[in-house]
Amino acid sequence: MESAEATRVSMDEITALAKRRGFIFQSSEIYGGINGFWDYGPLGAVLKRNVKNAWWRDTVELRDDVVAFDSSIVMHPLVWKASGHADVFHDVMVDCKVCKHRFRLDHLKNRAQCPDCGSKDSFTEPRNFNLMMKTFVGPMEDTSSVAYLRPETAQGIFVNFKNVYQTARKKPPFGIAQIGKSFRNEITPGNFTFRVREFEQAELEYFVPDDGRDMGVFREWVDRRKRWYSDYGISAERLRFYELTDAERPHYAKAGIDVEYLFPWGWGELESIAHRTTYDLDAHMNLSGKDLKFFDEASKSHYTPLLIESSAGMDRTALTFLIDAYERESGVDPNGKTVERTVLRFHPSIAPVQAAVFSLARNREDLVERARAIEKALRPNFRTQYDEGNIGQLYRRQDEIGTPYCVTIDHQTLDDATVTVRGRDSMLQERVQASQLETYLRHRLTGAPAE
Ligand code: ATP
Repeated sequence: MESAEATRVSMDEITALAKRRGFIFQSSEIYGGINGFWDYGPLGAVLKRNVKNAWWRDTVELRDDVVAFDSSIVMHPLVWKASGHADVFHDVMVDCKVCKHRFRLDHLKNRAQCPDCGSKDSFTEPRNFNLMMKTFVGPMEDTSSVAYLRPETAQGIFVNFKNVYQTARKKPPFGIAQIGKSFRNEITPGNFTFRVREFEQAELEYFVPDDGRDMGVFREWVDRRKRWYSDYGISAERLRFYELTDAERPHYAKAGIDVEYLFPWGWGELESIAHRTTYDLDAHMNLSGKDLKFFDEASKSHYTPLLIESSAGMDRTALTFLIDAYERESGVDPNGKTVERTVLRFHPSIAPVQAAVFSLARNREDLVERARAIEKALRPNFRTQYDEGNIGQLYRRQDEIGTPYCVTIDHQTLDDATVTVRGRDSMLQERVQASQLETYLRHRLTGAPAE
């Protein structure tokens, strides 16, 4: 079953569609690209924004116990010393002295021979390769000005823990969330936008008192994240919540779950949810000498809260939505002919375009004018797009970008003020009063009442 599911769609199909329809382009393409970096086109940028908004809505806006945060990408280098990234955030690498290729030691099956050029005993001694991207701050490029682009957003939250709880007047249990760019100099970027060198993370750091409720809170967040994927339509059979064993977790973590999706190349991690005890706040208190404990007014005591973290990659999640929504199927076109089509079955909140409005004829000014007016009226409430021309081609295009509804303005519209609405999934067409269109769409796109 695993292989059947995994081969449902190939990465070639996904990357071709992403490029053809303007979801994702290779970064710096006209100069030959740069490995591990990607650009989001007009539809991809909206897709990723929708994914982030969906996360933000559920994790921050719908909770009274989670506050927003946005920390800087470059921080004091000691932040990375305390977090361990400066010392242990690395892969062990060897170089082939003949072809100069660099390999991860744990990826080499046979250390006697270079898999690339076949040379024997050509490897250098294993060396640590730090994954943090280095830069210089200020005009001097010397060791005193070295800084790093953050490899995760979480540390910005930890070092501000006291600032936040004092100013937001929160006490554990409460959370701090942020979405932002992270950078990792991955040795082997690949699988499209799955493993990249610049990416966005959505992280929730949820602080709880050490009063025995911590594992319950951990389970609640796992359940909430499970529900989130399901609410936005990710197939349950291609998603799993893998519980890390004691041996697989870092020594300080009390529990950990990897959220994994069945990609065309196999299972891959989307998110990790972890009970990190007091490890992160302790590490910063030890190195900075500053007190980051919570002061409980009621008991007049200081304590270090426990931490439950959910850390999800937004690029991987956007890619997952794209892959999961993808289907090739036979359908019936408006003339009753069977056609092969590609359709992205996005959830309406995730779809870059929610309603496309067409004029059936390009050269009929009255139809074009009417269609444009209808699109403009819908625009404040939905993500819309205007187009015109051959209806079959228009439908095919909107199916391929996952637009849930297409609205067509034709000659009859001028007579009786009705329009044709065609559903992406059912491919059924209905005549709807133009005056009722907004209610009709709102009901179907957001679940709002039909009247
Ligand atoms: P992996 O094992 O795949 O390298 P990780 O365990 O190092 O990932 P974390 O440090 O737990 O990842 O980061 C949390 C999330 O950030 C991951 O689940 C993933 O969604 C995202 N992420 C991490 N590294 C990358 C990357 N190079 N490209 C895209 N997303 C990433």
